[in-house]
Amino acid sequence: MVQATGVRKSFAGHEVLRGVDLSVPRGTVTCVIGPSGSGKSTFLRCVNHLERPDGGRILVDGSPIGYEVHGHGLRELRHRDLARQRHQIGMVFQRFHLFPHLTALANIVEGPVGAGRPRTEATDEAMALLDRVGLADRRDAYPAQLSGGQQQRVAIARALAMRPKLMLFDEPTSALDPELVGEVLDVMRDLAADGMTMLVVTHELAFAREVADEIVFFDDGRVLESGPPARILTAPDHPRTRDFVTRVL
Ligand code: ATP
Ligand code: MG
Repeated sequence: MVQATGVRKSFAGHEVLRGVDLSVPRGTVTCVIGPSGSGKSTFLRCVNHLERPDGGRILVDGSPIGYEVHGHGLRELRHRDLARQRHQIGMVFQRFHLFPHLTALANIVEGPVGAGRPRTEATDEAMALLDRVGLADRRDAYPAQLSGGQQQRVAIARALAMRPKLMLFDEPTSALDPELVGEVLDVMRDLAADGMTMLVVTHELAFAREVADEIVFFDDGRVLESGPPARILTAPDHPRTRDFVTRVL
């Protein structure tokens, strides 16, 4: 579903991604771990073209993200086509980014209606999604009336309302009070069990161990190593991975 090869990105001459190769097969979960500043968020943002890589390429479901095939080469997508391509990719950030003036239900309905789906159909589906994240009874609540964990579950439902093929999560629980982390991870666990393809940046190593098919360790703009959780978390090849894992666990 995701195939990234040689992805490079610099900010003001500082190379933040130094040739990242990473792939996420359809229906699997890849968790990205690594030190602060190693480029995890930048990479995730490249996957939906919120950042434009300086080099390398990223295919999502076989299509180059941010580009279209033109003759023998590629040409950058125009704004509207990029928006359409992005609909296939749901993203959930550390902060919830809900519209404060809209109810939980309206937050979820907004995207599909904007993309041209009939409002009644979008509303039915939004109700089903609220139910799925355990918030059917809070449909009329505004974000300020919801806990952080509830807001994050609405944010997940909102992303799912676009019927994405791929979900990106950037530390979705790290801004939450500890007692609220579990309810968000439960929703993500269900989503994974349901076969969603997921790329998740997280410091929740217990979650990664349980849910990830593969764990990727980022260090200084590169993938230092990757593999099944059992190996990466207990017997990694690199001392830097071992240091990181023992510090976080
Ligand atoms: P964290 O665990 O703290 O979230 P991260 O692995 O997600 O870290 P990134 O946010 O990708 O790291 O940042 C990697 C480096 O790129 C950092 O040095 C950061 O300061 C820099 N960086 C990220 N975005 C920008 C930007 N828009 N402009 C300039 N520098 C940036
Ligand atoms: Mg980050």
